[in-house]
Amino acid sequence: MEIIRLRGIPAAPGIAAGEAFVSARLAFSSRRETIPSRKVKDEQARLARALKQTRRQLALLRTKIGKEVGEEHAVIFDAHLLILEDRSLLASLNKIITEERVRAEWALTQVNANYRRLFETLKDEYFRQRHLDISDVLSRIYKNLGRKRTRRDASKKPKILVAHDLLPSEAAGLLGRGNTLGVALDMGGATSHTAILARSLNIPAVVGLHDITGRVKNGDQMIVDGTDGEIIINPPPAILREFESKKIRYDAYRRELRRTARLSSQTLDGFRFRPMANIELPEEVSQALSLGAEGIGLFRSEFLYLRSVSLPDEEEHYQVYSQLARAAYPAPVSIRTIDVGGEKSLPKLRVEQEPNPALGLRAIRLSLKNPDVFRTQLRAILRASALGNVSLLIPMITEVEEVGEVKMMIEEIKGDLRSRRVKFDDAIPLGVMIEVPAAAVIADLLVKEVDFISIGTNDLIQYSLAVDRSNEFVAHLYKPLHPSVLRLVKFIIDKANGARCRVAVCGEMAAEPLSGLILLGLGLREFSMNPIFIPRIKKALRSVEQRAVQRIVGQAIGLRTAQEVEEFVMEKILARHPHALLLSGGE
Ligand code: PEP
Ligand code: MG
Repeated sequence: MEIIRLRGIPAAPGIAAGEAFVSARLAFSSRRETIPSRKVKDEQARLARALKQTRRQLALLRTKIGKEVGEEHAVIFDAHLLILEDRSLLASLNKIITEERVRAEWALTQVNANYRRLFETLKDEYFRQRHLDISDVLSRIYKNLGRKRTRRDASKKPKILVAHDLLPSEAAGLLGRGNTLGVALDMGGATSHTAILARSLNIPAVVGLHDITGRVKNGDQMIVDGTDGEIIINPPPAILREFESKKIRYDAYRRELRRTARLSSQTLDGFRFRPMANIELPEEVSQALSLGAEGIGLFRSEFLYLRSVSLPDEEEHYQVYSQLARAAYPAPVSIRTIDVGGEKSLPKLRVEQEPNPALGLRAIRLSLKNPDVFRTQLRAILRASALGNVSLLIPMITEVEEVGEVKMMIEEIKGDLRSRRVKFDDAIPLGVMIEVPAAAVIADLLVKEVDFISIGTNDLIQYSLAVDRSNEFVAHLYKPLHPSVLRLVKFIIDKANGARCRVAVCGEMAAEPLSGLILLGLGLREFSMNPIFIPRIKKALRSVEQRAVQRIVGQAIGLRTAQEVEEFVMEKILARHPHALLLSGGE
């Protein structure tokens, strides 16, 4: 038997070994079947029946997954039901049937391809993946037209699921059944729904394998190494043993991380800090809390605008935010208003091509230019705040006037909600992200305007150093420890602490042990990051005395270069706390 080793993208950590179950490919047609004009009406009626059946199925699935897998994984079906209601989508299907006189299958195939092309033009991998939600709904309608069926595995025996791609609803259904040991997909990226779901259900997964479905057969033995992104088909006993011992080591490491998650968040000298999570989907909440997050410091709301065909309405926003607030309750959740524009383009808002997008109409600037779209989001966040654990976070503030405009809009909406007797949290905290140097140097003024500050170091570094955060040609100049960055961050933290205004860092700097320790030394208490990094930051911070680190960082701030800062802090901290930086990576 041929041994095959394939490398893909590690999507959910852990190791699994077992028998393969190969699921059928996506059900879209490659044949253009025409019909006579007199049959057009019948074909539309056939499509309407399939739509009705799809609606029924999705509603049923929503209830079932909510009960059996968890509410946070059921929200995807709310989104799908909304896609199903989208008039422009249904109009384009009927238009293709009428104008081209083709079967509904071909119309679905065409519309799916159009959306895929549209989403493929997006730069951000996460957003590109969102076309899968539309594909999911379209392929469900396709199946309900009564042709091909997806093959299902009837046996209950735990297996490794191999597929070309998994639609979000298939992923929830298949992974939620409890008999999937691991997942291997041809397609996908680390931020696909399948990846997120696999991580939260602790199922090892490797995606982006290109052609695993063509290399493995039902019943083949295989290993999925979701930590390193490797697949081995037909492993000989020696390799199986090697992976078994790797699995034992990995499981022990994971237990250790989970133990860390339960330990208190304080330094050796009793300084309390708060690890928080940056997430993009409500489904990520439970995983974040189990890794030790004490709340959601940054909920990036962009996916809502990119997953559906038209702009999301208030109800769609509300469903997601209230789901999020409930999943995290009583822990706090900061919902950031839309941060697109610039390089994250949004065709639905018809943003003009800009010569210099990073300095253009992005984030709050875009929201204030589109007040109706912004009001819809603010209203939904306010309604979702009724539980009392939600705060509102505004991205990329540059001047005090912007905060004033946002506050006025919030007051208007509150007045309207009050008059309609709709519940909301009247004291909902308002925060701004400091991501541009202009905002950093007026931090003393901004802290008087808001309830909390969140420092977005990813952008603050980009704008301070004039280094595009995603340009590989200048990546060597992107230096979080550049003295200018440290001085700006120190200034913001000092002004916030001085005014007793809550302050957090939510950029990558908060997730790196060395820069995390430097932030601790600058007096920071709230560290928000991708949840997988929380255990390592918690370990680093718990193993030092805040006062000692503060003294070391106080000296480092006067140094001349990023390298001098790094070497100095590393040496001094290790001399005092030899274990602080001897840490393994994220999960
Ligand atoms: C940041 O800029 O640091 C940040 C957290 O926001 P984003 O990465 O979403 O731009
Ligand atoms: Mg940012």
